[in-house]
Amino acid sequence: MMNTLSSLEATIHQHLAVLVDEIGARPTGSVGNHRAGAYLKQQFGKAGWQVESPLFNCLTWETGGSRLSCGEQRFEVQANPYSPTFEGSFPFVVCDTVEALEQFDTLRGHLLVLSGLLAAESYMPLKFPFVTIEEQQRVLGQILHAQPEAVIGINSQPLFCDGDFPIPSVTLAPADGSRLLACSPQPLRLSIQGRRIESNGHNVIAHPVNLSLPKIVICAHYDTWFDTPGAVDNATGVTVLLALAQLLSPQKSNIEFVVFNGEDHYASPGEVSYLERGMGDIACAINIDGVGAQAHQNSVAYFGESPILERIQSVQQQFPAIVTSVPWYQSDHTLFVQQGIPAIALTSSPFDLKQTHTPHDTLDKIDTAAVAEAVRFIYQIVVEDPA
Ligand SMILES: [Zn+2]
Repeated sequence: MMNTLSSLEATIHQHLAVLVDEIGARPTGSVGNHRAGAYLKQQFGKAGWQVESPLFNCLTWETGGSRLSCGEQRFEVQANPYSPTFEGSFPFVVCDTVEALEQFDTLRGHLLVLSGLLAAESYMPLKFPFVTIEEQQRVLGQILHAQPEAVIGINSQPLFCDGDFPIPSVTLAPADGSRLLACSPQPLRLSIQGRRIESNGHNVIAHPVNLSLPKIVICAHYDTWFDTPGAVDNATGVTVLLALAQLLSPQKSNIEFVVFNGEDHYASPGEVSYLERGMGDIACAINIDGVGAQAHQNSVAYFGESPILERIQSVQQQFPAIVTSVPWYQSDHTLFVQQGIPAIALTSSPFDLKQTHTPHDTLDKIDTAAVAEAVRFIYQIVVEDPA
């Protein structure tokens, strides 16, 4: 075992190179996603674990780019993920509050530009299974009612990333916002190439042949956002699971690895599928999402109260570089927390990982030694057998 621990960083580097550089973007249901899933099945199997990978249906999406212009003026826009194709020239209206939006009974024959408060943050998907935000639902409801031909959001991030949102949409960078608004009352010409594709995907679940209950679930998501190699989000988390699977072999009879496929997908299909199959008796869940970012520290957040969590806290004392973070909820541990299961979540702190969900989330942003530290920490937790 010591041998394996000492070659840990080399093992980590190998897995990261496959996931980030060889495979790259892994949005749920895409070709890269299926390649990553096959790699995970093979690696857990090679380490002696029993592997399951139940299929679910999902949508994926491809784009051929998009264009926006007003007369001779051109604007750079990005098609929002899952946007349908669109082509047309229409006058536009600008709304920056829900009250302004609600003055329009119909926006047929118009493009809708969202700015200010209405473009302040991305909208939750229409059918998101875990959370709803009332104010956003009001805005979305009004847009669906008024039926603009297409929506242009002024923000640095897509306002919509939703395969259930029927209206074509693009994102315009804030730096170009005032130039666009000055085009009124001339019409805008917008063209979006987008294709929704029916596909499927699977989680990867690995456990000993005779799993004993209650189990400790160690999880991470392997899907990514579109157009990112997903190094810190979340090839590092997946790699922690693979390294642990190799170190532990399946002798620890109460461990289940769950590699989720859907954390960055609008409909969380992997999470929904995991819940629908029944989770079984779980003593504790350990989620890893975003560890090992360079110039950050690994952090752990605790959810719930339980003697298991107290024992994990005492293991943490042996890892002085791992800090305790405030509880956060934007990842897969939340589905366990909502069932009252004690959980911990590991990430990099402080939180503002600017490269997340961008093409800049690359291998060189990873501190391999910090990924190894996360492996050693969880290894120690599991070996001390908190359940
Ligand atoms: Zn993530």
